[in-house]
Amino acid sequence: MTQQGQTYEEVYRYSIEQPEAFWAEQARAIDWQRPPERILDYSHPPFRRWFVGGTTNLCHNAVDRHLAARADQLALVAVSTETGLTRELTYRQLHREVNAAAAVLKSLDVGRGDRVVVYMPNIAEAVVVMLACARIGAIHSVVFGGFAAHNLALRIDDARPKLLVCADAGMRGGKVVRYKPLVDAALEEAAHPPPHVLVVGRGLDPDLRRVDGRDLDYAELVGRHADADVPVEWLESNAPSYLLYTSGTTGKPKGVQRDVGGYAVAMALSMRTVYDVGPGQVMFSTSDVGWAVGHSYNVYGPLIVGATSLLYEGLPTSPDAGIWWSLCEKYGVRTMFSSPTGVRVLKKHDPAFLRKYDLSALKWLFLAGEPLDEPTARWINEGLGKPVIDNYWQTETGWPVLCLLPGLDLKPGKFGSPGLPNLGYRLRVIDETTGQDAAPDQKGVLVIQPPLPPGCLSTVWNDDKRFLSSYFSHFKELLYSSLDWAVRDADGYTFILGRTDDVINVAGHRLGTREIEEVVSGHPAVAEAAVIGCADELKGQVPVVFATLRAAGDNAARAEAARGMSARVVEQLGAVARPARVYIVGALPKTRSGKLLRRSLAAISERRDPGDLSTLDDPNALEEIKRALVRGP
Ligand code: ATP
Ligand code: MG
Repeated sequence: MTQQGQTYEEVYRYSIEQPEAFWAEQARAIDWQRPPERILDYSHPPFRRWFVGGTTNLCHNAVDRHLAARADQLALVAVSTETGLTRELTYRQLHREVNAAAAVLKSLDVGRGDRVVVYMPNIAEAVVVMLACARIGAIHSVVFGGFAAHNLALRIDDARPKLLVCADAGMRGGKVVRYKPLVDAALEEAAHPPPHVLVVGRGLDPDLRRVDGRDLDYAELVGRHADADVPVEWLESNAPSYLLYTSGTTGKPKGVQRDVGGYAVAMALSMRTVYDVGPGQVMFSTSDVGWAVGHSYNVYGPLIVGATSLLYEGLPTSPDAGIWWSLCEKYGVRTMFSSPTGVRVLKKHDPAFLRKYDLSALKWLFLAGEPLDEPTARWINEGLGKPVIDNYWQTETGWPVLCLLPGLDLKPGKFGSPGLPNLGYRLRVIDETTGQDAAPDQKGVLVIQPPLPPGCLSTVWNDDKRFLSSYFSHFKELLYSSLDWAVRDADGYTFILGRTDDVINVAGHRLGTREIEEVVSGHPAVAEAAVIGCADELKGQVPVVFATLRAAGDNAARAEAARGMSARVVEQLGAVARPARVYIVGALPKTRSGKLLRRSLAAISERRDPGDLSTLDDPNALEEIKRALVRGP
């Protein structure tokens, strides 16, 4: 294992030059029922298997293993400002609940290798059901609660579950979102509906309808199995543990399949080195359990290392914009994890909230999921007076690809860059046309040299072909890429410039929309900006800006802000990047996970079909954009 006092450079080099020795050491951080026979099998590239022949279990490592030393320590705190309820579960209590839930699953004939779709809000039961699946070797597929019935039906047909577990309802901004009618509609539509639906009743839906023989009450069944002890199912390291769909920013979501052993080892390593959280310490991730961050850093990561995980259902601004920080004070949070989108929401509120609470325990704020623009990073860094660390990763990788590692020696950050390659990741920036390594400061496509490290996806569920075509078919060489455009500087820091299809060509100049967004966001009136390329007869493409303002002003103020944005772009990037049009709108279209849907913005700006909108958060945002386009800038 990595030793105290080792530098990032030393450990990184070791992880790349002697991967099997490095990962064999990391594997000791988790419990194995049978130790691995081989660390790596790479006989069928790009498929790879880590810790071959070893058997282990995620639930054992996340729960049972801690009972000896920390049974009475909090494992999970689930706070809801929507219902006003907080649940605090110690490891002993979590163990009990997970055993009861596992017994319920078994009583419904769910076993090893069976899929269970989980359609729940951010509540403790979601975590309990995930762990119960892991315990018995069932494969969970968490679908973000509140997705429309059609999206749920598509995922059901892809996963073909034996069981669906849902809540009666979720809540958002004080409004009840009834889930059960959506489940009913999804099961109508699905070609492969599961025989049973297990409903967690939160008492939010007085009109809850049950289908006889199909729908079962969670509390009632758990009550019947309250004292059950369900032995853990030991699984070969490469057995599937769960499925999780990507955000759908670039098109139809892909069903990422994760393994057991490699994932557990990657979680243990990253909790220590990236997030600097160990046994007994508290981590607060604001993510929903339905996303990759939620799986890794609300559930498996913190629990595997014996930490306390804080789960939050509610808006970042309710009851006021200080809620996150008041929770940090109350629970002594050491590491907080959120997204740039989340911070931009707070940016519309009084920065005094950032200083209102005692944050002496808080050491780090991590942000991931989207480009972190410098103005947002500075605002939160200065407001909190805490280090703010940008992480770059993907649903596919399951843990950070680019980061800084405070658990080793923390390197200085550079605004606009998520930092350096994480341990075990061989990263390259490749010239799109020549397929050669790009020189420092030269733009190219970010790729991972396979074999992918532990923790990353094994394949696309039931679709090895899509795994190969989506990720490994872009270059002559066998290289993994999700097609993000990047540049690496002479110090080895990588800057993400956006997705390759976000690169626009203005009169022969290649511009990253991200670069323009960064400059526009620096305008003091701007809350958030999206820049897209729009077809233009003369120049090929021109940049078009959509922006929301921090304070809604009158027409004159809006026009003034729009002029100011253009002026900044010309000043900082040159006249070639001058926005052809600047639209000021009330909201930008985003995925449910908070990512800007630039491809849909670009499509409707060019009056094309906006494409797959299944993960769009608020359809009104897109409607408003359409109206703005008709009205003109
Ligand atoms: P889909 O793959 O379905 O189109 P998606 O790529 O948005 O959706 P995710 O796995 O949620 O699905 O997001 C990963 C992507 O998010 C990365 O490939 C990158 O484009 C972007 N991203 C994540 N973190 C950062 C970051 N720190 N800086 C810049 N971009 C980031
Ligand atoms: Mg992607």
